[in-house]
Amino acid sequence: MSFIRTATFATLTTAIAAPVLADEVNVYSYRQPELLQPLMDAFTEQTGIKVNVAFLNKGMVERLKAEGARSPADLVFTVDISRLSAVVNEGLTQPVVSETITDNVPADYRDPDHHWFGLTTRARIVYASVERVQPGEITTYEDLADPKWKGRICTRSGTHPYMVALTSAHLHHHGEAATLDWLQGLKANLARKPQGNDRAQVKAIWAGECDISLGNTYYMGKMLTNDEQKEWAASAKIVFPTFEDGGTHVNISGVALTKSAPNKDNAIKLMEYLTSPAAQEIYAAANFEYPIAPGTQAVDLVKSWGDFEADAVNLMDIAKLRPAALRLTEVADYDG
Ligand code: FE
Repeated sequence: MSFIRTATFATLTTAIAAPVLADEVNVYSYRQPELLQPLMDAFTEQTGIKVNVAFLNKGMVERLKAEGARSPADLVFTVDISRLSAVVNEGLTQPVVSETITDNVPADYRDPDHHWFGLTTRARIVYASVERVQPGEITTYEDLADPKWKGRICTRSGTHPYMVALTSAHLHHHGEAATLDWLQGLKANLARKPQGNDRAQVKAIWAGECDISLGNTYYMGKMLTNDEQKEWAASAKIVFPTFEDGGTHVNISGVALTKSAPNKDNAIKLMEYLTSPAAQEIYAAANFEYPIAPGTQAVDLVKSWGDFEADAVNLMDIAKLRPAALRLTEVADYDG
């Protein structure tokens, strides 16, 4: 018995002692370099740990799968609960149980099983024509299916992750039959076939093609700081709709630790640093998003869009409804 114990201990010691690890941490990110770099530099300055970031346009899951246990990646950064849960569902992550993280990230914005957690939120809201939509005319998501909006709404494709998450949230509140009705009602109100991105819908409001659209909050900030697009932004105001029995739909940008993380301790240090109130505020400001740690605040421009009550639902529950939401979108032939 004692022999076996000794042997096991020796094996473990060898396994831990053998690789000489550099003081670094490797990140795979779908997020743009300019959003991450200031934070990574600050982290390196504080800890001496170097952060290597690989920016990917697509294929993160495929790349992690192909690399397997040899993957250099420690952390994955992405937006949208569907992308985070895709990495988790493929078995490519491991749980992180940290009091710092639990204190800094509200429960709705982290995985109950500790595989992912959010750093910032963005609300999916209504952009309404300043000229053609009166204050109070639209207050709920359900209202988007009201025939009074016939021919007045523009959206992107119903199968885009941002739209699927909103449909999943509707499903969470109202069930399948009502959600199919809602999708069909919304489709019947469209001014044109779903096309383009969130900003293209605001451009359509500016051009007079429609009166309301759906989009994420931060695009207002991006348009206002873009010479060509600030006119589009000026033609629309942000309205925070709620579900009739809930709040405003939000999604997250988030992070997860890979299953094979070669620099696990450093990676957890970076995760904990990123959840700190100060880091969240910097990260949120870079993309006009909302920090989520208790006591943190968005930048003044973002605050100027108004206050809202986020829908009280764990985003994992929204992610689980994704296949059903996608199926209903197809049944409604939303994009057709
Ligand atoms: Fe986006």
